[in-house]
Amino acid sequence: MGRGYRRFWDPDAERYGISTWPWKLAPAHLKTRDQLVEMGLRPHQPPAGQILWTNKKLGIRRAYLYDIALAGPPKARSAAQVASLEAARRKRRTCPTCGVVRDYTISTALKECVPCADGLMAAA
Ligand SMILES: [Zn+2]
Repeated sequence: MGRGYRRFWDPDAERYGISTWPWKLAPAHLKTRDQLVEMGLRPHQPPAGQILWTNKKLGIRRAYLYDIALAGPPKARSAAQVASLEAARRKRRTCPTCGVVRDYTISTALKECVPCADGLMAAA
C-alpha cells in the first residue's frame, strides 16, 4: 500500500473527525451518493464517513459515504411541488399572444403558438 493508504486510513475518525478510508477501501455497506443513485436510492441521513484520495491535478478529493441501511427511495414530491410543476408545464403551453393553452409546448424560437406565428407570417 502507498502513502495514501496510511494518510487516509482513519476509520475511528481520530484525525479527520469523520470515519475516513482511502479510495476503494471503505466498508461495503457505505456507498457514495452516486452509488446509491445507481441503485435507485437516496441518502436520508448525514454521511457516515468519507473516502479521501489524491488527484494529481486537483489535490485531495473527498466523497461522502452513506450507510446503505439508512438510505431509501427518493422522497415523494409534495402536493405543492406537483402543483408547481404542473403550473410551470401549463405556462410553457400557453401562448403569450392569444392566451390559448395548447397541447404542445410553445416554441422558444417562435415565442407563440403556431396559428399566431402563421398569422404574423401571413400578414408580413
Ligand atoms: Zn397564439
